[in-house]
Amino acid sequence: MSATSTYDLIIIGGGINGAGIARDAAGRGLKVLLCEQNDLASATSSASTKLIHGGLRYLEQYEFRLVREALTEREVLLNNAPHIIKPLRFVLPHRKDLRPAWMIRLGLFLYDHLGGRKKLPASEGISFASHVAGAPLREDVTKGFVYSDCWVDDARLVVLNAMDARENGAEILTRTKCVGAVQRGGQWNVTLRGDADQGDRGVVGKMLINAAGPWCADLIKADGGVVQSKTTANIRLVKGSHIVVPKIFDHEYCYIFQNGDGRIVFAIPYEDDFTLIGTTDVDFNGDPSTVKIDQDEIDYLCKLASGYFKKTVSTDDVVWTYSGVRPLYAGNGDGENASKISRDYTLKLEANSGDAPALHVFGGKITTYRKLAEHALQIITDQLGRDDHPWTASAPLPGGDFPNASYDDAHSIYAKRYDWVPTKMLKRLLRLYGTRIEAILGTAKGLSDLGTCHGHDLYEAELRYLIDQEWVRDLNDLIWRRSKLGLRLTKDQQAVLKQRLAKENCTKIAAE
Ligand code: FAD
Repeated sequence: MSATSTYDLIIIGGGINGAGIARDAAGRGLKVLLCEQNDLASATSSASTKLIHGGLRYLEQYEFRLVREALTEREVLLNNAPHIIKPLRFVLPHRKDLRPAWMIRLGLFLYDHLGGRKKLPASEGISFASHVAGAPLREDVTKGFVYSDCWVDDARLVVLNAMDARENGAEILTRTKCVGAVQRGGQWNVTLRGDADQGDRGVVGKMLINAAGPWCADLIKADGGVVQSKTTANIRLVKGSHIVVPKIFDHEYCYIFQNGDGRIVFAIPYEDDFTLIGTTDVDFNGDPSTVKIDQDEIDYLCKLASGYFKKTVSTDDVVWTYSGVRPLYAGNGDGENASKISRDYTLKLEANSGDAPALHVFGGKITTYRKLAEHALQIITDQLGRDDHPWTASAPLPGGDFPNASYDDAHSIYAKRYDWVPTKMLKRLLRLYGTRIEAILGTAKGLSDLGTCHGHDLYEAELRYLIDQEWVRDLNDLIWRRSKLGLRLTKDQQAVLKQRLAKENCTKIAAE
């Protein structure tokens, strides 16, 4: 085991909650270490529906606190990350057998007014005979409503938070598992194990943060948990899956479809040429790292979508699927229907006299991660005897410093500066990297200056940036989390990239 270092905060878990807390804490000058056993966002935080939303259906469950906080966050996050977040209009076809129109109007009125909306347009009623969103729908649905929410590249939101944490001095260790955390002399003694077989590393922390998502309860269980803890948690693991199919409609609206079982499913324009459909809600008891979609879930999503679209959606249309596990804080709600358990978060402080404190993060949504981090920092600063100075509400994430927080303004500037970059490629790069596009395109004057093309429009300059700046270590990091090039690159191109990344890793590990 190598020499020991001391940190104010040791964070277990590089999903959105761990990365969000790391960023907020590092920006306040705390000495932070975050360990992630796999890649950043490799679990739930890359498997969401990718909505920054209040959650219309949570109003029915009287979750006003959650909905208000989430609605307010939409514009805060949109201003801070206008490259990876964009406004969307959602079309809700009206089915009077499921919910009366007055109830939907009331819900949308609350949705429009609860969260201090400024940029996003208000809701309205529409007739499908005259609205562009009516064309792909079956004729028996004639009316509906439109309202606003936002879309986010969830995996990149995590990486950008981790980058900002690093730029503020945090140490971010991917492929590094916490395999032990014990109290010793009023501090946390934490053992970290990297995947490179270089022996364990011991680190010492004044406070420990358990942000392990679906693993949060396992980590602290009395029998076999790796963190010494007296906290108990009633966590319900609920699987949610999505399917991706070739695009079913050719406009920018999304659909929110109600189902007879009380659930709702979204159909969202995805990566220009596809439609994303999800999600399911199924209780899950297995290992979260092996979660994958079942045929029953594919059938459920296809049937529901086919009930609304003129086009029948079938298993044969599915080009990609992904699944994630929601770690929901169940309180006493063991027996409840999975879709009815609260999506709100709970922070549990464990502070026993003479011991170093720990904070356990349970539940939560991508949408509320920044507020969750602020609440966590209130507790952390109090425990560490620091002042509480929130700062992230008006701080752009890396690459998000667009003029007027406007994607269109930034696009005009970069389209002029890099007029040799094909339009689709510029759009892809600007959406992924924002102003950090400059770190990739640099002083290049043409595509040939970007080095080898690895397929589609992925050039060596982008790959190098991802390896050097964004912790890319293997193919899945590259093609499913930092980008969605998995939908574009051929199997052969992927195989070459896989080999290239393996070689790159060997060199890196040998040099360490
Ligand atoms: P995770 O992202 O799972 O991160 C936990 C991390 O801890 C993992 O990466 C794991 O590898 C790591 N870890 C665990 N144990 C260890 C260890 N011992 N050492 C080191 N690392 C460890 N929210 C929204 O706001 N909008 C949506 O549209 C939305 N849709 C969703 C759809 C689905 C199907 C699901 C499942 C969730 C959705 N959510 C949505 C919720 C949101 O995705 C989650 O609340 C959020 O991603 C949880 O983040 P997390 O950081 O807590 O967990």
